[in-house]
Amino acid sequence: MERRCDICQENEAIYTDYSRGVSLCTNCLKSSIRRRAWAVLENELQEGDKIVVAHSGGKDSSLALYITKEFIDTHPDMKLNLVSLTIDEGTFYRKASIELAKKLAEKLGIRYIVFTMEDIHGISIEDIKVNIPKNWRRSVCTYCGVLRRQAINAVARELGASVVITGHNLDDIVQTSLMNIARGDVNALVKTLRHERRIEEGLIPRIRPLKYVYEREIAALVIALGIPAHLGKCPFTQGMRIGIRRVIDELEDEASGSKIRALRSFYLITRSIRPRVEIKRCKVCGEPTTADLCKACQFKLELSDFFGKDLLKPPSFEKASSEKEWIWSNR
Ligand SMILES: [Zn+2]
Ligand SMILES: [Zn+2]
Repeated sequence: MERRCDICQENEAIYTDYSRGVSLCTNCLKSSIRRRAWAVLENELQEGDKIVVAHSGGKDSSLALYITKEFIDTHPDMKLNLVSLTIDEGTFYRKASIELAKKLAEKLGIRYIVFTMEDIHGISIEDIKVNIPKNWRRSVCTYCGVLRRQAINAVARELGASVVITGHNLDDIVQTSLMNIARGDVNALVKTLRHERRIEEGLIPRIRPLKYVYEREIAALVIALGIPAHLGKCPFTQGMRIGIRRVIDELEDEASGSKIRALRSFYLITRSIRPRVEIKRCKVCGEPTTADLCKACQFKLELSDFFGKDLLKPPSFEKASSEKEWIWSNR
């Protein structure tokens, strides 16, 4: 027998929230997620923002795009502009999700743009996977994270965006925070959790509207609404994140609500700490960094040996400058 929604008592329930002990229908789950996401957007977006959504085609960024579009449509006075950006890492995994990303952007009537990792960094993640030795101390996932993050920031900046929206959910942020703690990297922890819009030259502020939303809530809603999105996890996830994810999931199973309480605690702990970092410019590529060489250039230098060629050159943004005008023009 189908279960009724505990909120509206009307529709069929599709999701159970164990921490509150309630089952929700599609409408009530959507309202609940939208309430949390919009609170973040209301707090952090500013009038006239040019928003780039880092849209991989996965469920999280697809829902972030969907919810942000609804926010924009219902807040015309804020004069917000939105584009969807995919960074194609060149992996087999990305191919399917790019098609889905394009489909969703079209459906929502949003400008859509793809940059390949090769366009920007001169190498793809597939190349890295093939060229690094077995049992190398760094995983493909580590290279991908750094190169992708830098690519998103740099493309958004070159496109003239004022803010980047990402699909990071509650699970992601708690995992990353605990990884920072396990590594003893308090500066990284503060950077992970800072939420105020800071103006640091070259760094585009980031907003994570789904930061208080569980990954499983996102999956349930994306399926229920039929939003075109890739539902799988990245097959390249490796290293510490896997163990941390398992620990946090077990904790949540034993004590519902642990993830949200952990995130609130991390925010409280780090609120009064200022990161001890000075933003400089990378000597090779000019991107913002805290060292002489940015992480992406450090990695490219290290990978050059395996590739048998010099990979250390500034990223290229020709495509970004040529698309700039079109991307923000009124349709
Ligand atoms: Zn309901
Ligand atoms: Zn650099």
